[in-house]
Amino acid sequence: MPANSVDLLKQLVAFDTTSRNSNMELIHFIRDYLAGYGVTATLIFNEDSSKANLIATIGPNVAGGVVLSGHTDVVPVDGQDWASDPFVASQADGRLYGRGTADMKGFIACALAAVPMFCKANFKKPVHLAFSYDEEVGCLGIQAMLPDLKKHVAPPRLVVVGEPTSMTVANAHKGQHVSCTRITGKEAHSSRPEDGVNAVEVAAELIGFIGSLRNKARDSGARDDQFEPPYTSFNMGPIKGGSAFNIIPNTCEFDWEFRPVPGDDAKKILSTYQTYLDEVINPRLKALDPACGAENSVWAYLPPLKAEPGCDGETLALALAAKNDTGVVAFGTEGGHFQSIDFPAVVCGPGDIAQAHKPNEFVELSQLAACDKFMVRLAEALTG
Ligand SMILES: [Zn+2]
Repeated sequence: MPANSVDLLKQLVAFDTTSRNSNMELIHFIRDYLAGYGVTATLIFNEDSSKANLIATIGPNVAGGVVLSGHTDVVPVDGQDWASDPFVASQADGRLYGRGTADMKGFIACALAAVPMFCKANFKKPVHLAFSYDEEVGCLGIQAMLPDLKKHVAPPRLVVVGEPTSMTVANAHKGQHVSCTRITGKEAHSSRPEDGVNAVEVAAELIGFIGSLRNKARDSGARDDQFEPPYTSFNMGPIKGGSAFNIIPNTCEFDWEFRPVPGDDAKKILSTYQTYLDEVINPRLKALDPACGAENSVWAYLPPLKAEPGCDGETLALALAAKNDTGVVAFGTEGGHFQSIDFPAVVCGPGDIAQAHKPNEFVELSQLAACDKFMVRLAEALTG
Protein backbone atom coordinates (compact mmCIF):
# COMPACT_ATOMS: atom_id res chain seq x y z
CA MET A 1 0.00 0.00 0.00
CA PRO A 2 1.73 3.21 -1.10
CA ALA A 3 2.10 5.84 1.59
CA ASN A 4 -0.21 8.82 1.57
CA SER A 5 0.83 12.42 2.06
CA VAL A 6 -0.31 12.61 5.70
CA ASP A 7 1.67 9.52 6.74
CA LEU A 8 4.70 10.67 4.79
CA LEU A 9 4.53 14.10 6.38
CA LYS A 10 4.49 12.49 9.83
CA GLN A 11 7.63 10.60 8.90
CA LEU A 12 9.36 13.70 7.51
CA VAL A 13 8.52 15.78 10.61
CA ALA A 14 10.21 13.14 12.80
CA PHE A 15 13.61 14.04 11.31
CA ASP A 16 14.88 17.08 13.21
CA THR A 17 16.28 18.93 10.23
CA THR A 18 16.75 22.26 11.97
CA SER A 19 19.25 24.01 9.70
CA ARG A 20 22.12 23.62 12.20
CA ASN A 21 21.71 19.79 12.02
CA SER A 22 22.59 17.34 9.28
CA ASN A 23 19.71 16.49 6.94
CA MET A 24 21.28 13.19 5.86
CA GLU A 25 18.85 10.89 7.65
CA LEU A 26 15.93 12.55 5.92
CA ILE A 27 17.73 12.56 2.56
CA HIS A 28 18.52 8.85 2.90
CA PHE A 29 14.89 8.19 3.78
CA ILE A 30 13.77 9.97 0.59
CA ARG A 31 16.48 8.30 -1.51
CA ASP A 32 15.44 4.86 -0.24
CA TYR A 33 11.74 5.63 -0.71
CA LEU A 34 12.39 6.66 -4.33
CA ALA A 35 14.57 3.59 -4.90
CA GLY A 36 11.56 1.50 -3.82
CA TYR A 37 9.84 2.75 -6.99
CA GLY A 38 12.94 2.36 -9.15
CA VAL A 39 13.73 6.08 -9.13
CA THR A 40 17.41 6.94 -8.80
CA ALA A 41 18.29 10.05 -6.83
CA THR A 42 21.44 12.10 -7.18
CA LEU A 43 22.80 13.63 -4.00
CA ILE A 44 24.80 16.84 -4.04
CA PHE A 45 26.73 17.28 -0.82
CA ASN A 46 27.91 20.36 1.04
CA GLU A 47 31.60 20.88 1.78
CA ASP A 48 31.88 18.56 4.77
CA SER A 49 29.28 16.07 3.47
CA SER A 50 27.05 16.67 6.49
CA LYS A 51 24.16 17.78 4.27
CA ALA A 52 22.91 17.01 0.81
CA ASN A 53 20.54 18.23 -1.87
CA LEU A 54 18.60 15.61 -3.79
CA ILE A 55 17.68 15.62 -7.46
CA ALA A 56 15.62 12.91 -9.16
CA THR A 57 13.83 12.64 -12.49
CA ILE A 58 10.73 10.56 -13.21
CA GLY A 59 9.98 10.05 -16.88
CA PRO A 60 12.14 10.92 -19.89
CA ASN A 61 14.66 13.68 -19.15
CA VAL A 62 13.47 15.91 -21.98
CA ALA A 63 12.70 19.63 -22.05
CA GLY A 64 9.27 20.81 -20.91
CA GLY A 65 9.00 18.98 -17.59
CA VAL A 66 8.06 20.32 -14.18
CA VAL A 67 10.41 20.69 -11.22
CA LEU A 68 8.94 20.20 -7.74
CA SER A 69 11.16 22.15 -5.40
CA GLY A 70 11.31 22.00 -1.63
CA HIS A 71 13.76 22.74 1.16
CA THR A 72 14.34 20.01 3.71
CA ASP A 73 15.50 22.20 6.59
CA VAL A 74 13.31 23.84 9.22
CA VAL A 75 13.77 26.78 11.59
CA PRO A 76 14.66 26.15 15.25
CA VAL A 77 12.08 25.59 17.99
CA ASP A 78 14.40 27.07 20.65
CA GLY A 79 12.56 29.21 23.16
CA GLN A 80 9.17 28.49 21.58
CA ASP A 81 6.29 27.26 23.71
CA TRP A 82 4.92 24.18 21.92
CA ALA A 83 1.85 22.32 23.19
CA SER A 84 3.32 19.04 21.94
CA ASP A 85 6.66 17.66 20.74
CA PRO A 86 7.42 19.65 17.55
CA PHE A 87 9.13 16.61 16.00
CA VAL A 88 6.24 14.22 16.61
CA ALA A 89 3.46 15.21 14.22
CA SER A 90 0.09 15.21 15.95
CA GLN A 91 -3.26 15.22 14.26
CA ALA A 92 -6.20 17.17 15.71
CA ASP A 93 -9.09 19.32 14.47
CA GLY A 94 -8.38 18.52 10.83
CA ARG A 95 -4.82 19.74 11.21
CA LEU A 96 -1.40 18.17 11.43
CA TYR A 97 0.85 19.94 13.96
CA GLY A 98 4.64 19.81 13.94
CA ARG A 99 7.71 21.77 12.92
CA GLY A 100 7.88 21.96 9.13
CA THR A 101 4.31 20.85 8.48
CA ALA A 102 3.63 24.15 6.68
CA ASP A 103 7.19 25.26 5.92
CA MET A 104 7.60 23.08 3.96
CA LYS A 105 7.66 19.37 4.44
CA GLY A 106 3.96 19.23 3.58
CA PHE A 107 4.72 19.91 -0.07
CA ILE A 108 7.59 17.40 -0.09
CA ALA A 109 5.26 14.79 1.44
CA CYS A 110 2.65 15.38 -1.29
CA ALA A 111 5.32 15.16 -3.99
CA LEU A 112 6.61 11.87 -2.53
CA ALA A 113 3.11 10.46 -2.10
CA ALA A 114 2.55 11.11 -5.81
CA VAL A 115 5.68 9.20 -6.88
CA PRO A 116 3.92 5.82 -7.34
CA MET A 117 1.32 7.56 -9.54
CA PHE A 118 4.05 9.42 -11.47
CA CYS A 119 5.90 6.14 -12.04
CA LYS A 120 2.80 4.40 -13.39
CA ALA A 121 1.87 7.30 -15.68
CA ASN A 122 3.17 7.19 -19.18
CA PHE A 123 5.02 10.49 -18.96
CA LYS A 124 5.86 12.30 -22.19
CA LYS A 125 7.51 15.05 -20.11
CA PRO A 126 9.24 14.48 -16.79
CA VAL A 127 8.75 15.45 -13.17
CA HIS A 128 11.98 16.46 -11.46
CA LEU A 129 12.36 16.54 -7.71
CA ALA A 130 14.79 19.13 -6.33
CA PHE A 131 15.09 19.09 -2.54
CA SER A 132 17.62 21.40 -0.90
CA TYR A 133 19.35 21.97 2.45
CA ASP A 134 19.94 25.26 4.29
CA GLU A 135 17.19 27.36 2.73
CA GLU A 136 16.33 28.91 6.07
CA VAL A 137 19.87 30.14 6.62
CA GLY A 138 20.44 31.93 3.33
CA CYS A 139 19.46 29.54 0.50
CA LEU A 140 22.87 27.87 0.57
CA GLY A 141 21.78 24.44 -0.70
CA ILE A 142 19.99 25.65 -3.79
CA GLN A 143 23.01 27.72 -4.79
CA ALA A 144 25.17 24.60 -4.58
CA MET A 145 22.58 22.71 -6.65
CA LEU A 146 22.17 25.20 -9.52
CA PRO A 147 25.12 23.98 -11.65
CA ASP A 148 23.87 20.37 -11.39
CA LEU A 149 20.31 21.38 -12.22
CA LYS A 150 21.54 23.25 -15.26
CA LYS A 151 23.68 20.30 -16.34
CA HIS A 152 21.42 17.34 -15.58
CA VAL A 153 17.86 18.63 -15.80
CA ALA A 154 16.50 19.31 -19.28
CA PRO A 155 15.08 22.87 -19.35
CA PRO A 156 11.69 22.63 -17.62
CA ARG A 157 8.48 24.39 -18.43
CA LEU A 158 7.94 25.26 -14.79
CA VAL A 159 9.41 25.04 -11.31
CA VAL A 160 6.89 24.82 -8.49
CA VAL A 161 8.48 26.06 -5.27
CA GLY A 162 6.20 24.50 -2.67
CA GLU A 163 6.42 27.13 0.06
CA PRO A 164 3.10 27.65 1.85
CA THR A 165 0.75 29.83 -0.20
CA SER A 166 -2.49 28.00 0.74
CA MET A 167 -2.21 26.46 -2.75
CA THR A 168 -2.54 29.82 -4.51
CA VAL A 169 -0.05 30.68 -7.25
CA ALA A 170 2.44 33.45 -6.46
CA ASN A 171 4.61 34.70 -9.30
CA ALA A 172 6.73 37.34 -7.57
CA HIS A 173 8.51 38.27 -4.39
CA LYS A 174 11.20 40.68 -3.29
CA GLY A 175 14.86 39.73 -3.16
CA GLN A 176 17.12 39.93 -0.15
CA HIS A 177 20.78 40.83 0.34
CA VAL A 178 22.26 40.44 3.80
CA SER A 179 25.67 41.98 4.45
CA CYS A 180 28.10 42.27 7.31
CA THR A 181 30.34 45.33 7.50
CA ARG A 182 33.46 44.97 9.67
CA ILE A 183 35.53 47.96 10.70
CA THR A 184 39.04 47.65 12.05
CA GLY A 185 40.12 50.69 14.03
CA LYS A 186 42.89 51.25 16.52
CA GLU A 187 42.67 50.95 20.28
CA ALA A 188 43.87 53.76 22.55
CA HIS A 189 43.06 55.43 25.85
CA SER A 190 39.91 57.46 25.38
CA SER A 191 41.66 60.59 26.61
CA ARG A 192 44.03 60.44 23.62
CA PRO A 193 41.83 60.59 20.51
CA GLU A 194 44.78 61.31 18.22
CA ASP A 195 46.34 57.94 19.12
CA GLY A 196 43.35 55.80 18.07
CA VAL A 197 40.89 55.19 15.26
CA ASN A 198 37.35 54.83 16.54
CA ALA A 199 35.67 51.89 14.77
CA VAL A 200 32.26 52.66 16.29
CA GLU A 201 32.31 56.18 14.87
CA VAL A 202 33.13 54.81 11.44
CA ALA A 203 30.22 52.38 11.78
CA ALA A 204 27.90 55.28 12.64
CA GLU A 205 29.06 57.09 9.51
CA LEU A 206 28.46 54.01 7.35
CA ILE A 207 25.04 53.44 8.86
CA GLY A 208 24.22 57.04 7.99
CA PHE A 209 25.32 56.37 4.42
CA ILE A 210 23.14 53.25 4.25
CA GLY A 211 20.31 55.44 5.53
CA SER A 212 20.81 57.73 2.54
CA LEU A 213 20.64 54.69 0.21
CA ARG A 214 17.43 53.67 1.94
CA ASN A 215 15.88 57.12 1.49
CA LYS A 216 16.83 57.20 -2.16
CA ALA A 217 15.32 53.74 -2.78
CA ARG A 218 12.14 54.75 -0.96
CA ASP A 219 11.76 58.19 -2.59
CA SER A 220 12.97 57.65 -6.13
CA GLY A 221 13.74 53.94 -6.61
CA ALA A 222 11.77 51.27 -8.48
CA ARG A 223 8.17 50.79 -7.32
CA ASP A 224 5.90 47.82 -7.52
CA ASP A 225 2.50 48.40 -5.95
CA GLN A 226 1.84 44.68 -5.52
CA PHE A 227 4.22 44.77 -2.57
CA GLU A 228 3.90 46.30 0.86
CA PRO A 229 5.91 48.50 1.03
CA PRO A 230 6.08 49.01 -2.75
CA TYR A 231 9.78 49.99 -2.74
CA THR A 232 13.11 48.44 -1.82
CA SER A 233 13.33 48.39 1.97
CA PHE A 234 16.38 48.38 4.26
CA ASN A 235 17.05 47.22 7.79
CA MET A 236 19.97 47.69 10.14
CA GLY A 237 20.49 44.52 12.20
CA PRO A 238 22.74 43.61 15.14
CA ILE A 239 25.77 45.79 15.86
CA LYS A 240 28.65 45.21 18.21
CA GLY A 241 31.77 47.20 18.93
CA GLY A 242 33.95 48.45 21.73
CA SER A 243 34.58 47.08 25.20
CA ALA A 244 34.56 50.00 27.64
CA PHE A 245 33.63 53.69 27.64
CA ASN A 246 37.23 54.74 28.20
CA ILE A 247 38.80 52.71 25.41
CA ILE A 248 38.69 53.85 21.80
CA PRO A 249 37.02 50.81 20.13
CA ASN A 250 39.26 48.99 17.70
CA THR A 251 36.51 46.93 16.06
CA CYS A 252 32.89 47.28 15.17
CA GLU A 253 30.68 45.14 12.99
CA PHE A 254 27.07 45.26 11.97
CA ASP A 255 24.66 43.30 9.79
CA TRP A 256 22.33 45.05 7.42
CA GLU A 257 19.97 43.94 4.72
CA PHE A 258 17.88 45.28 1.93
CA ARG A 259 14.96 43.70 0.05
CA PRO A 260 14.81 44.91 -3.52
CA VAL A 261 11.54 44.95 -5.40
CA PRO A 262 11.86 43.05 -8.70
CA GLY A 263 13.16 45.64 -11.15
CA ASP A 264 15.37 47.50 -8.71
CA ASP A 265 19.09 47.22 -9.33
CA ALA A 266 20.51 45.47 -6.27
CA LYS A 267 24.01 45.34 -7.77
CA LYS A 268 23.99 49.12 -8.11
CA ILE A 269 22.99 49.58 -4.47
CA LEU A 270 25.84 47.33 -3.36
CA SER A 271 28.36 48.93 -5.69
CA THR A 272 27.42 52.43 -4.50
CA TYR A 273 28.14 51.31 -0.95
CA GLN A 274 31.37 49.57 -1.96
CA THR A 275 32.55 52.66 -3.85
CA TYR A 276 31.93 54.75 -0.74
CA LEU A 277 34.09 52.31 1.26
CA ASP A 278 36.82 52.23 -1.39
CA GLU A 279 36.98 55.92 -2.23
CA VAL A 280 36.01 57.74 0.94
CA ILE A 281 36.26 55.60 4.07
CA ASN A 282 39.22 53.33 3.45
CA PRO A 283 41.67 55.93 2.07
CA ARG A 284 41.00 58.04 5.16
CA LEU A 285 41.40 55.12 7.60
CA LYS A 286 44.51 53.76 5.88
CA ALA A 287 46.11 57.19 6.03
CA LEU A 288 45.67 57.10 9.82
CA ASP A 289 46.99 53.56 10.07
CA PRO A 290 47.46 51.04 7.25
CA ALA A 291 46.05 48.27 9.46
CA CYS A 292 42.70 50.07 9.71
CA GLY A 293 39.87 49.66 7.24
CA ALA A 294 36.27 48.69 6.58
CA GLU A 295 35.07 45.68 4.59
CA ASN A 296 31.63 44.58 3.53
CA SER A 297 30.68 41.01 2.68
CA VAL A 298 27.32 39.79 1.40
CA TRP A 299 26.63 36.57 3.31
CA ALA A 300 23.13 35.77 2.17
CA TYR A 301 21.58 36.50 -1.14
CA LEU A 302 18.16 35.85 -2.54
CA PRO A 303 17.30 37.13 -5.98
CA PRO A 304 13.77 38.48 -6.38
CA LEU A 305 11.21 36.34 -8.15
CA LYS A 306 10.13 38.31 -11.18
CA ALA A 307 6.63 37.91 -12.50
CA GLU A 308 6.39 36.58 -16.04
CA PRO A 309 2.68 37.18 -16.52
CA GLY A 310 0.99 35.07 -19.15
CA CYS A 311 4.05 32.89 -19.67
CA ASP A 312 3.50 29.24 -20.44
CA GLY A 313 4.77 28.04 -17.06
CA GLU A 314 2.46 30.36 -15.17
CA THR A 315 -0.54 29.26 -17.24
CA LEU A 316 0.27 25.65 -16.40
CA ALA A 317 0.69 26.47 -12.70
CA LEU A 318 -2.74 28.12 -12.58
CA ALA A 319 -4.30 25.09 -14.27
CA LEU A 320 -2.60 22.68 -11.84
CA ALA A 321 -3.72 24.73 -8.84
CA ALA A 322 -7.20 25.25 -10.34
CA LYS A 323 -6.86 29.01 -9.83
CA ASN A 324 -7.58 31.96 -12.11
CA ASP A 325 -5.23 34.59 -10.75
CA THR A 326 -1.72 34.92 -9.50
CA GLY A 327 -0.61 36.89 -6.46
CA VAL A 328 2.68 37.78 -4.80
CA VAL A 329 4.22 36.66 -1.51
CA ALA A 330 5.91 38.83 1.10
CA PHE A 331 8.56 36.23 1.93
CA GLY A 332 11.61 35.11 -0.03
CA THR A 333 11.97 31.71 -1.70
CA GLU A 334 14.39 29.78 -3.88
CA GLY A 335 12.31 30.80 -6.93
CA GLY A 336 14.60 33.65 -7.99
CA HIS A 337 17.58 31.27 -7.98
CA PHE A 338 15.76 29.01 -10.43
CA GLN A 339 14.97 32.01 -12.64
CA SER A 340 18.67 32.89 -12.60
CA ILE A 341 19.31 29.70 -14.63
CA ASP A 342 16.30 30.38 -16.87
CA PHE A 343 13.95 27.92 -15.17
CA PRO A 344 10.53 29.67 -14.97
CA ALA A 345 9.27 29.49 -11.38
CA VAL A 346 6.18 30.12 -9.28
CA VAL A 347 5.48 29.58 -5.59
CA CYS A 348 2.59 27.28 -4.72
CA GLY A 349 2.30 24.95 -1.76
CA PRO A 350 0.04 23.71 1.03
CA GLY A 351 -0.33 25.56 4.33
CA ASP A 352 -0.22 29.17 5.36
CA ILE A 353 2.96 31.16 5.89
CA ALA A 354 1.22 32.69 8.92
CA GLN A 355 1.80 29.38 10.71
CA ALA A 356 5.43 29.06 9.67
CA HIS A 357 8.36 29.66 12.04
CA LYS A 358 5.95 29.75 15.02
CA PRO A 359 5.15 27.38 17.88
CA ASN A 360 2.36 24.90 17.12
CA GLU A 361 2.99 25.17 13.38
CA PHE A 362 0.36 23.23 11.48
CA VAL A 363 -1.01 22.43 8.06
CA GLU A 364 -4.71 21.84 7.40
CA LEU A 365 -5.33 18.30 6.13
CA SER A 366 -7.56 19.89 3.47
CA GLN A 367 -4.47 21.73 2.22
CA LEU A 368 -2.58 18.47 1.83
CA ALA A 369 -5.59 17.05 -0.01
CA ALA A 370 -5.60 20.08 -2.34
CA CYS A 371 -1.90 19.56 -3.00
CA ASP A 372 -2.51 15.85 -3.70
CA LYS A 373 -5.05 16.94 -6.33
CA PHE A 374 -2.49 19.34 -7.77
CA MET A 375 -0.17 16.33 -8.24
CA VAL A 376 -2.93 14.35 -9.98
CA ARG A 377 -3.47 17.23 -12.46
CA LEU A 378 0.29 17.44 -12.91
CA ALA A 379 0.50 13.75 -13.82
CA GLU A 380 -2.30 14.26 -16.34
CA ALA A 381 -0.62 17.32 -17.84
CA LEU A 382 2.65 15.47 -18.36
CA THR A 383 1.00 12.40 -19.83
CA GLY A 384 -1.15 14.16 -22.40
ZN1 LIG B 1 10.26 27.73 3.68
